[in-house]
Amino acid sequence: MDHKKARTLRDTLMVIGFVVMLSGYLFGLVSTIIGAIIMLSCLIPDFLYNKCPHCQKRLGRNEGAFCQHCGGRID
Ligand SMILES: [Zn+2]
Repeated sequence: MDHKKARTLRDTLMVIGFVVMLSGYLFGLVSTIIGAIIMLSCLIPDFLYNKCPHCQKRLGRNEGAFCQHCGGRID
């Protein structure tokens, strides 16, 4: 998986988790907990795959076109 897919997956999980968590208002505590778990699971692709293709260091919150560690192009 490359960093673009990891970012997309992370953002998708975050949005889905947030919506499920908000639905806890209607459906009770269980869906709030499930939503929180989905939201936290967005950290997995971020930690494992959101890396620079050149130096393999984590990109963190860098959403730009260049790596902050080696300066390589990442898009
Ligand atoms: Zn790099």
